[in-house]
Parts: sequence; C-alpha cells; structure tokens
Amino acid sequence: MHEFYFHDRGEMKIEYYENFFSSLSSSTHENWQSGFYDTLRDMFEHPAHGDYAKWKNAVTQIPDRPTSYHLFDQPVVQVGEINELDKSQQQAVENALLTLIPWRKGPFNLFGIEIDTEWRSELKWQRIQSHLPNLSNKCVLDVGCGNGYYLLRLLGLGAKQVIGVDPSLLFLAQFTAITKNIRPTVNAYLFPLAFEQLPRQLKNFDCVLSMGVLYHRRNPHQHLNLLFRHVAPGGVVYLETLIVEESYRNELIPENRYAGMRNVWSIPCA
Ligand code: SAH
Repeated sequence: MHEFYFHDRGEMKIEYYENFFSSLSSSTHENWQSGFYDTLRDMFEHPAHGDYAKWKNAVTQIPDRPTSYHLFDQPVVQVGEINELDKSQQQAVENALLTLIPWRKGPFNLFGIEIDTEWRSELKWQRIQSHLPNLSNKCVLDVGCGNGYYLLRLLGLGAKQVIGVDPSLLFLAQFTAITKNIRPTVNAYLFPLAFEQLPRQLKNFDCVLSMGVLYHRRNPHQHLNLLFRHVAPGGVVYLETLIVEESYRNELIPENRYAGMRNVWSIPCA
C-alpha cells in the first residue's frame, strides 16, 4: 500500500507527479519510461497557454483546508462542507472558482459552493455506468477526461487508481481546485497532455475509456489502435461516441460485443 503525501497536490507542477511515479511497481514503471517524465516536465516549464499563470494562481488562492469529506458516488461531486470554512475563506474559494470559468463538465460542490456546469455530466454518467464492467479495485485510464469529473465518479465506483489525460491546462486547474484539499489524497492523476504523448504501450489498465473523443479525431482507426495499446490482458476499451462512420462501423463493432446502447461500445482486449 502506497502513501501519497509527498507533494502538495495544489501546486500544479511536475513534482506532484513524482507521487505517481514513485507509486509504480518496477514492472509498470518500465512502461512509463521512454521520456514521458521529460515531456511532462517540459509542459510545466513551457505551458502552452497564456492564462496558465492566472489559473495556477487561482488554485493557490483556494485556502489550504484539508478535508476528508467527499462524495463521489452522487450526481454532484462534493468535496468539503460549508461549515469547514469561515466567510473570508468561502469568498476566496468563490473568487478562485470564478477565475476558472468556463466550467464545462460537472456539477461539483466545493465546501458548499455549487458549481453549475455547462454540461450535465451526471446524466451521461447515469446512462453509461451500468454498462461498465465491475471497476472495484481496478486501474482506469480516461482519455480526453476534461476536468476529471468522471475520474472522481470512477473512484466512486471503487476504482483503485484513475488516470486522466487531456491537454487543457484549464481543466487541470479545475481538477486541482476540486481535489487539492482532499485527505488522504485520492489516487487520481490528470496528465495535461495529448493522449498521443503517453508512453507508446502502457498495457496496464483494466479499463480504458474514450468518451466524446473519437468523433473529433481525424483518424479514428489510429485512435482505437492507441487505446488498445494501454489495456492490460483481459481488460476492456470502453468507447462512447456520437457518430460512427458507416465505413468502419461493422469492422469496429462485432455484433456480439455490442453493449446494448446506440453510441456506447465495450470492446474486450483480445
Ligand atoms: N470525456 C469527456 C469530454 C469529452 S470532450 C466527456 O465525455 O464528457 C473532448 C475532450 O477531449 C476535451 O476535453 C478535449 O480537451 C479533449 N482532447 C482533445 N484532443 C485530445 C487529445 N489529443 N488527447 C486527449 N484529449 C484530447
């Protein structure tokens, strides 16, 4: 059992991920090598968005107020309770959350402050979660994870470790704002990179999720191939997409593997 206390979650910097790298077993560690840590460090040294400093500062403005209170198995992901902060701390949280708009995925509630988001992610989750395999004690990768709403819902289903990848630094700031005060620290990491920048072949996830991403890809075949590279033997790729081109529909979805929903597929790793 690893402890995840070494670095402050709220700092949005490379050191935080050292917790993750030091938690890996030696065999898994090998798969994460080949320059990935350097890619991540370069990203933090040369962040590709002019507002990064503003977002990082907003996250820092959220008071350090460790809390063990969190709800991940309810439609509204909640962290902390309103009576854990005084009035000025509440104001500081509210200001920080406003600096981090737009909030696309959610809803969240941070220390009693409701974050109403553009998308009702809990409705999609409701549709999807009954089709997921049993994720209790499993490792899950969420590709295009947005601000990590589903990462936390996955922990709510009992996942052991959840990894998200999404290149948006705003989403990393939102995720950090929500999770930085949770103690003990949750086993969830959001890598602010493109999925294609992950190590070539991780092969260690019991479940790889790709939701709402495929139809943005120029080359959907390549996206699917990459997804399968990260699945452990016996694991599953879980795909949700609005549009599937007729030309590769049949090849992609053997009938007996159809999960029963029009735009959701669960594809076992051969
Ligand atoms: N999975 C979420 C978000 C879908 S929106 C959901 O189902 O609600 C698509 C997401 O993919 C966005 O958050 C976007 O930032 C992310 N994205 C775009 N290109 C990506 C890439 N190359 N690698 C990983 N994520 C990417």
